[in-house]
Amino acid sequence: MSSFEEKMSITVLLPAGRLPLDIMQKAHDLADRYGLEIYLSTLQNLRLLNVPQSAVAEVKAALVALGADFKAPGKFPIPRICVGKPHCNLGLIDTKELSEKILAKFVGRGKTKAKLKIAISACMLSCSGTKISDIGIIAGRNGYDIFAGGKGGPAPRIGRRIKKEVGEDEVLQTIETLIAFHDSKTGTKQRMIKLLDHPDFPFPEV
Ligand code: SF4
Repeated sequence: MSSFEEKMSITVLLPAGRLPLDIMQKAHDLADRYGLEIYLSTLQNLRLLNVPQSAVAEVKAALVALGADFKAPGKFPIPRICVGKPHCNLGLIDTKELSEKILAKFVGRGKTKAKLKIAISACMLSCSGTKISDIGIIAGRNGYDIFAGGKGGPAPRIGRRIKKEVGEDEVLQTIETLIAFHDSKTGTKQRMIKLLDHPDFPFPEV
């Protein structure tokens, strides 16, 4: 391996921010072997930094053998979640469970354009950035509020509330409608905020 060899990063998707122990151990072994750094990303994924180009295939194969999935264009976004019930005293729902339901419904769906982020919070404090995500789902005592079009970055914006105190089925239907609308109106990538005032945007503010 040349010291001038190009270095890459590999992002392992971690649904619900959970890191399986075998993947953790393998990442540790690979980091030892190739001198990698391990970065925990703001989207709750595991990123291996400084992977030599010549080792990328081998590193990926070792992780795939343990069931790892990698960030790639077109994949449905893994929701960023707060820790929720029962791990936070304020949590009204088990965020891991809702994230799993969302992924079970949509994970095989291709055609999700880049830049779209989903977040879930188990109470209105929104620790997972639900109001600054393209689609934000916030649990309340009487159901879920859904926000669309939030964003962070240099000009942060709070999302627009498009559903108030709805049930889980409506959460799933709303995500489906929003993703389909985003896909139909987006070339390669676009934040939802740019579509909020489109004449065909499917939901009014509530
Ligand atoms: S959003 Fe609420 S439930 Fe979730 S971690 Fe923060 S305080 Fe706890």
